[in-house]
Amino acid sequence: MSDPSTEPAEAAFSFLGDGLRLAILRALAEREARAGPREDAMAYSDLRRAVGERDSGKFSYHLGKLTGRFVEKTPEGYRLREPGRETVRLLERGVVDGDADLDAAPVAARCPLCDARVRVTYGDHHLFACCSECAGLFGADECPEGTVTGIVLPPAVVEDLDPTPLFERAHRVFERRLRPMFEGVCLECGGEVDGRLRRCPDHDPGPSGICPECETASPLLAELVCETCGRGRVSHPLFGNPGADDVDATGDGTWTGPAVAGDAGGTAAAWDRFGSFLAWTPTAREDGAVAFDPPSGDGQVVVSPDLRVIE
Ligand SMILES: [Zn+2]
Ligand SMILES: [Zn+2]
Ligand SMILES: [Zn+2]
Repeated sequence: MSDPSTEPAEAAFSFLGDGLRLAILRALAEREARAGPREDAMAYSDLRRAVGERDSGKFSYHLGKLTGRFVEKTPEGYRLREPGRETVRLLERGVVDGDADLDAAPVAARCPLCDARVRVTYGDHHLFACCSECAGLFGADECPEGTVTGIVLPPAVVEDLDPTPLFERAHRVFERRLRPMFEGVCLECGGEVDGRLRRCPDHDPGPSGICPECETASPLLAELVCETCGRGRVSHPLFGNPGADDVDATGDGTWTGPAVAGDAGGTAAAWDRFGSFLAWTPTAREDGAVAFDPPSGDGQVVVSPDLRVIE
């Protein structure tokens, strides 16, 4: 495990209050960095040695502050409780204090709207894939110009990969994250996800390409929000939707396998699939469902207001 400065994290985690406390949590986490039930507690003396704190009074004072909520004391010694583990996970992902430097790096992909080159940029813990020429799909203030997708990723992942593999990895992750949400389950917390069609009643992208009403280029998107933790995602109603797994996104009969395949499907598949669905024409039906027609005109798919593929 890396050991970046804990100072900015300290500010955010004021309830942890002291770098020594974070060092204790990290030392315990390193001990149990494996999946499954965690049996082995860490003896007091081993823990103090691992942290490297000479002042025993200071050490036991801070360990005592952590014990209860973050750390559990057992007859064999100390081990993390889940809030302690979650704190370390946040630190390791760089979610609290980290950032990554990535500015307008070109990737091997084309814009689904205008076929221009795509660039990735990173900000506010999102990897944005942006068109270099058109307005893209999302025009809200927090999106860089030309945003087609914005995917939450921790800085630790962004730092580790070159732009194109990063772009491909992000879109695979995006598609897989969406699937359980379309099924009504939040994988982050186990809560229930409310999924619905978001339709812009007065959609008018005009010459800018972005409608001022909904701040997107598309009149119709899927909105998925966890009712418990508030995690929200926006997608095309067919992309990431398990009900559309057997749908040929290109609509021209070239598709031959499941939407979310292993590596055999090619790692660029998720971006291509997302982009292909953008070319489908949505038509609202009287019952609130929306019919999507591929450019070829053959193979209509109907999505209910709560995002189920019903025809
Ligand atoms: Zn474009
Ligand atoms: Zn609109
Ligand atoms: Zn949740």
